[in-house]
Amino acid sequence: MIRINENFQRLQGSYLFSEVAKRTKDYQLRHPDMKVIRLGIGDVTQPLAQSVIDGLSKGVSDMGRIETFQGYRSDEGYEFLREAIRQMDFVSRGVDIALDEIFITSGAKEDTANFQELFAGDIKIAIPDPVYPVYVDSNVMAGRSGKFVDGRYEKFIYMDTRAENGFTPDIPKEPVDLIYLCFPNNPTGQVATKEQLKRWVEYAEKNKAVILYDAAYEAFIRDPEIPHSIFEIDGAKQVAAEFRSLSKTAGFTGTRCGYTIIPKEAEAYDADGKPVSLNALWNRRQNTKFNGVAYPIQKGAYEVFTAKGRAECNTIIDYYLENARIIGDGLKALGISYSGGTNSPYIWLKTPGNLTSWEFFDKLLFGIQVVGTPGSGFGKCGEGYFRLTSFGKKEEVIEAVERIKSLKL
Ligand code: PLP
Repeated sequence: MIRINENFQRLQGSYLFSEVAKRTKDYQLRHPDMKVIRLGIGDVTQPLAQSVIDGLSKGVSDMGRIETFQGYRSDEGYEFLREAIRQMDFVSRGVDIALDEIFITSGAKEDTANFQELFAGDIKIAIPDPVYPVYVDSNVMAGRSGKFVDGRYEKFIYMDTRAENGFTPDIPKEPVDLIYLCFPNNPTGQVATKEQLKRWVEYAEKNKAVILYDAAYEAFIRDPEIPHSIFEIDGAKQVAAEFRSLSKTAGFTGTRCGYTIIPKEAEAYDADGKPVSLNALWNRRQNTKFNGVAYPIQKGAYEVFTAKGRAECNTIIDYYLENARIIGDGLKALGISYSGGTNSPYIWLKTPGNLTSWEFFDKLLFGIQVVGTPGSGFGKCGEGYFRLTSFGKKEEVIEAVERIKSLKL
């Protein structure tokens, strides 16, 4: 009798965004005439930049000619793309990353979920609360969690992020092995300073831990003092891996391309305490489980790392940041406190009137037909909070803010 991986049965309910989508769809079916504005899921709405479209088209036409046709190639990604990333994202910031430390992937979700495979089943993991749910669920599937009790999994170390600590996790008081950090943060919209990241790197060095640094939203950082990469911090290459994505940088949520940086110095240890290179382990894993990102996609992705393509992408990001400003100003006018909204596409607001996150969700959906994401879906500390995203169309964002202002709060 074939048996299932019972760890899957520990997973809680349906995935947060499926539940939001389901409730929204049910409402829409019952009220087909109502115009619902979606500021819930972090999905982009603006089309790809023209340079990217040109790159994709070139990639497709290359596939149709014998001289330029591409079959299986190196699964870590084409050199033309890795070199462009190396120059624009790292060399330009004074960070030395080698080509074979860059792995092109189909997105940061996959890699942030898969990276934990490199580590032992009984390592201690530290996860912020609230958190991007993929970090938690992938570790549950891998069997690292205990039971789900009172809103949390046993065995995981949760790092509370609340108003009191500026929605940024504090360093754990105990030693942990794998730390999940995400800046600019989903869902709280917070960024980390160099000083804060330095403390994390020191902690990881001291405890022989590894930091999984999710920088999926780094392109939204406009403050020149805020680091875009954890590798801007001395010593980080020994203790961190970084995950990046073109989903929000360049609107690739449906096109799919990201990249993961695993420095050769980054190490974990075998049972005898002997150091093992994470870069070598990840390379081995990818060789077995991944066959690379489609050539035309990599041709399109390359354009994001040209001056022209990046300028076009930045114009789109500015559009979303302007949406974030509009939402933030609206909330300020209503006296609703929030975090994020600058250097980030996310606005993390305190629900007015002490409503629970799902009560506020229902109030917005049923009352004014605006969809956001209940903070409690991101963790226990998210109860009483609500996430709005700035990825909508500007005219809809303006209308949503007007509708929120009309609510009796
Ligand atoms: N990491 C974070 C924090 C995210 O919010 C998201 C998507 O919303 C991802 C990763 C996934 O990115 P990708 O589309 O590259 O898989």
